[in-house]
Amino acid sequence: MTASGIDLYQFTRAELSDLIAGWGFSRVHAARLWNYLYWEQAESIEAMADLPAKVKGKLLAETRLGVLPVSLATDSSDGYTRKFLLALPDGLQIETVRMHFTGRTTACISSQAGCAMGCVFCATGQRGFSRHLTAGEVVSQVVHVARLLKRAGEPRLRNLVVMGMGEPLHNYEATLRAMEIVSDGAGIALGAERITISTVGVVPGILRLAEENQPYSLAVSLHAATQSERAALVPAARAWPLDQLMEACRTYSTRTGRRIFYEWTLIEGKNDGVEHAHAVGALLRGLPAQVNLIPLNPTEGYSGVPGRTSAAKVFQQVLAEHYQLPSTVRQRRGIDIAAGCGQLAGAARDAAAGSVVGAD
Ligand code: SF4
Repeated sequence: MTASGIDLYQFTRAELSDLIAGWGFSRVHAARLWNYLYWEQAESIEAMADLPAKVKGKLLAETRLGVLPVSLATDSSDGYTRKFLLALPDGLQIETVRMHFTGRTTACISSQAGCAMGCVFCATGQRGFSRHLTAGEVVSQVVHVARLLKRAGEPRLRNLVVMGMGEPLHNYEATLRAMEIVSDGAGIALGAERITISTVGVVPGILRLAEENQPYSLAVSLHAATQSERAALVPAARAWPLDQLMEACRTYSTRTGRRIFYEWTLIEGKNDGVEHAHAVGALLRGLPAQVNLIPLNPTEGYSGVPGRTSAAKVFQQVLAEHYQLPSTVRQRRGIDIAAGCGQLAGAARDAAAGSVVGAD
């Protein structure tokens, strides 16, 4: 099945206004349409009752509302996480996760169907890449979660992490366009500082974020502090070696003035030892950084096991005492529903807490 018509979710507010004005209608109708999309989170063009018939008729003829139907919804046993499989028009499926922590909700969304980065421990990476998502498909996931909250009478969505399926900086244009739309103050209005883009280390994308001074938070999945160890876990490190990655991170922090969240998936016996803590501490010395330690989410295609809590605590102590590096240890919330690639739940908690600093 393919969808016909232009997806309304792909437009910024200014573009939507130009579209409506270009058809000879008043821009007032564009403002109403925008409200239907992002305040009302309408589920169809037909449901937009206050639009004049002529405008609605043109919209129905030329456009579509890219609402993605839910194929499957699963709750985690801890009650914090609900994962949705959303169906794309071409039959592919993507994951969107809603997480509740400390009274706030975070959406974790996908940027691609599948992923080309091939991280060995990641279920998405093990399945390979299908295609990039459009900006509209990225926005639609955010609207999906916002709509659920609105219907349930819950506080509005505050936090967003682009940490689901895919590598967002491998789909830079669509991802950044979508972030512009969902952070528009007249719509979903997510604060840019409450949006976190997570990359496995796509150096050109990090440099572009820096060059454009994009206002979003950045998380970089490190997992190892030497090139050979990292390349064994993250094949993308062969294309963008560790020294280039760290140089790009330095440039990013210098240009934007922002620290980076460095993600470290703890794998027992592989990267959770005292020597690894010293290695990452030395690597990040002098950089504005926070390290997020995440016990591995086991996947069928990888034999590694999660690092123990005791090892994580020692790791944190080394970072704090020897390198004055703040760090967090994240819980693997929603693990029984395989919530993403091992980075989702902790990020949600950090985001819900408002950029946590310091060990916990
Ligand atoms: S961890 Fe992220 S970047 Fe790596 S394969 Fe999985 S989805 Fe892709």
